[in-house]
Amino acid sequence: MSVVRPREVPLGGLRAITVRRTLPNRERTTIGAWCFIDHFGPHRVADAGGMSVAPHPHTGLQTVSWLFSGEIEHRDSVGSRQLVSPGQLNLMTAGRGIAHSEESTVDSVWVHGVQLWVALPEEYRHVGPFFEHVVPPRVVLPTMNDAGEALVTVFVGSLLGVESPAKTFSPLVGAELVIPAQSSVEMPVNPDFEHGFLVDQGTLRVNGEFGEHADLIYLDRGLTHLELSSGSQPVRAILLGGTPFTEPIVMWWNFIARTHDEIVALRDEWQRDVVEGLDAGGRYGHVNFDGLPIPAPEMPSVRLRARATTRA
Ligand code: MN
Repeated sequence: MSVVRPREVPLGGLRAITVRRTLPNRERTTIGAWCFIDHFGPHRVADAGGMSVAPHPHTGLQTVSWLFSGEIEHRDSVGSRQLVSPGQLNLMTAGRGIAHSEESTVDSVWVHGVQLWVALPEEYRHVGPFFEHVVPPRVVLPTMNDAGEALVTVFVGSLLGVESPAKTFSPLVGAELVIPAQSSVEMPVNPDFEHGFLVDQGTLRVNGEFGEHADLIYLDRGLTHLELSSGSQPVRAILLGGTPFTEPIVMWWNFIARTHDEIVALRDEWQRDVVEGLDAGGRYGHVNFDGLPIPAPEMPSVRLRARATTRA
């Protein structure tokens, strides 16, 4: 068990917002197949400019966009155009390659939520890209001390007897928890899973470990129950879990692959087909977007190395 504090990262682009990143971190690359946690806001769109991310590619992963408030418009190269609202899951399976854009809508007052990535296992990482919009199931849990009810929204996988219809490629769970102030909840979990709690609001205590705003609380495998409690403020947190992902992966920019050379080829295709506009029908396709795609950064001067995802 450990608590990871976030580091601040500018998201890039004009009028960029800054996000708080807790995965990957110095200690670990993944929690289950979850491999990336960015937490943003709450920012007022009028002050911070909202989210404005022009078309960019992804490979070898799924992206999860989950909002606490505000509204984002997603567009991608398989023809999706979808508003993302709080309580709804937008899941994009990049597989062999996709491009997408994300922008706060003009009506959005706030931008506040998380962007998560899931690494695809070897046998599925070249699947054709697709996009799902899901209204996930919710469970109401009474608190142990009669302090009200906790609300659990299961956006990926199964928890508390409900299952999200979202497509997954490895044993995984993702859920939003809202716990009233001064209360505690006991939650049965899969003992084969490792878990993480990203705290958005309040102070969350999990099996004796505390996390505050933007912290990630990590819990090893082998637990059958988690005891969660709040302090003087209500808690909102994201629970992520899964069986440890054992394949070494290379993560660079928006790509997940297995080798340096594979990343170089994926980057070259993005630059040639999309940024230079030579083949809109190539690996990444075309996003119907009013503006230029984001060019890939230069490759580092050293060779990228696969990072072990789980310590023995
Ligand atoms: Mn993206």
